[in-house]
Amino acid sequence: MSACEYPTTHEKIAEVIDIHNFIDNVFIPSASTWIDLHDPATNNLVTRVPQSTDAELKAAVDSASKAYPKWKATSIIRKQQIMFKLAALIRENTEKLAASITLEQGKTCADARGDVLRGLQVCETACGITTQLTGEVVEVAKDMETRSYREPLGVVAAICPFNFPAMIPLWSIPLATITGNTLILKPSERVPGCAMIIADLCRQAGYPEGVINIIHGGAKTVDFIIDEPAIRAISFVGSNRAGEYIFTRGSANGKRVQANLGAKNHAAVVPDCNKNHALNAIVGAAFGAAGQRCMALSTLVLIGQTKEWMPELADRAKKLTLNGGFEEGADLGPLISPQSKRRVEDLIQSAQNEGATILLDGRSQKPAKYPNGNWVGPTIITNVKPHMKCYTEEIFGPVLVCLNVESSNEAINLINANEYGNGAAIFTRSGATATLFQKELEAGQLGINVPIPVPLPMFSFTGNKKSVAGGGVANFYGKDGLRFYTQWKTVTSLWRAEDAISKQSDVAMPTHS
Ligand code: NAD
Repeated sequence: MSACEYPTTHEKIAEVIDIHNFIDNVFIPSASTWIDLHDPATNNLVTRVPQSTDAELKAAVDSASKAYPKWKATSIIRKQQIMFKLAALIRENTEKLAASITLEQGKTCADARGDVLRGLQVCETACGITTQLTGEVVEVAKDMETRSYREPLGVVAAICPFNFPAMIPLWSIPLATITGNTLILKPSERVPGCAMIIADLCRQAGYPEGVINIIHGGAKTVDFIIDEPAIRAISFVGSNRAGEYIFTRGSANGKRVQANLGAKNHAAVVPDCNKNHALNAIVGAAFGAAGQRCMALSTLVLIGQTKEWMPELADRAKKLTLNGGFEEGADLGPLISPQSKRRVEDLIQSAQNEGATILLDGRSQKPAKYPNGNWVGPTIITNVKPHMKCYTEEIFGPVLVCLNVESSNEAINLINANEYGNGAAIFTRSGATATLFQKELEAGQLGINVPIPVPLPMFSFTGNKKSVAGGGVANFYGKDGLRFYTQWKTVTSLWRAEDAISKQSDVAMPTHS
């Protein structure tokens, strides 16, 4: 198999797609056991992904270790040319990548294209590497200068989640490699296909053998990455449960770890806002991608009289079409798995049991054409209190939980008391109120009248609090991303005429003063 061709319908496929490891620029069938993957819209079997063997995992590391010295020594211009080519190939293959995402992950075609394009933007930004990786130089004394520059780390690894099969691998591939590292990438075992297409595009773009290797599997593969001494750094995106474990054990093993975790993003609605814009933005950001985005607006904080807008919000949510992602006009697709559907439904039930009101209940909704998918329609829960499970847990489904407060200050205190701090949005026409939120909110990414404030890749993804491990020391992409994948080296040199070189030893600490 080369990179797989994915169908663009949810119809049962004749032959299940087998996913292979990608080592030394070759797709290699695994000798291991298989994990079956189902189309979330139908639960038909579509793909099989291997739990790679120890020997296969080791072969990937050996390949990356062998490729490293030559890749490190490759000129920055050559690396930049490869990146230009990769960006062009990803753009050309957007539809193919998006089809694999819709089939394996479930999101709509339009949303899957967005997934690809957001990743592509990281590649495109990385094409400017020749001005982004510059160091510093200072003349510290006569004939003496100190310069700093950045070197790659060696072999690095990326471990990805299921919800952005293109974007999140592309948070790592461009920056990890253009800085001179070689990379081992483990896609989510629930959506491996898109990364395989990207691997094929990397090969076509001219990446030499071993610079990018892709290995598959679940927790066993992750443990291999954490414990393998040749791997110097790990980029992780996913849940708190896995991420905190990987951060702790990876750091204890002496690796650099960047880890973006779960979220509970709040939108505060101030009565003076543009109501129409706010309601549309909230519906889109709460229910788009069936709520399976780390920056989904899953929590609404209604200030004062805005609680009276809820019936109108529910009317807009009711108009969204739940359907297979390949269907024209689908607004949201299914959840990733039957387990995920059950978990989301249980959380809705827990809200009801704890005394909240289910204003809009999506639990029995399903499209007629796809009765066997993992469907939950848009759901709105009102009168939620901060102690309720539907508020304290990340739901990761098309469920909006709504709390009422009386003032902007009360909204700020409520949002800041939440453990997570990925993002927040506020809707207001007042500059003074917006500034108050901007200064006081502890969320790492803030939108003012913007519902999903994920910055473009010239900035970094800047989650905060429990949404990042280790206090967010190493953000993804942007300047922080380049810093993560490189090690500063500083060189102080003295070049003087022979007759001016020191005549005797000086044992005191040099101070240059
Ligand atoms: P997940 O943690 O279940 O899986 C992510 C990766 O970790 C996968 O590759 C998986 O194989 C591995 N993994 C899972 N359990 C493991 C374990 N016990 N031990 C070792 N490895 C393990 O996450 P997911 O369900 O794929 O993704 C959804 C989560 O990711 C949500 O919490 C979401 O908020 C978060 N997310 C965060 C961001 C961000 O930037 N903050 C972006 C996207 C998704």
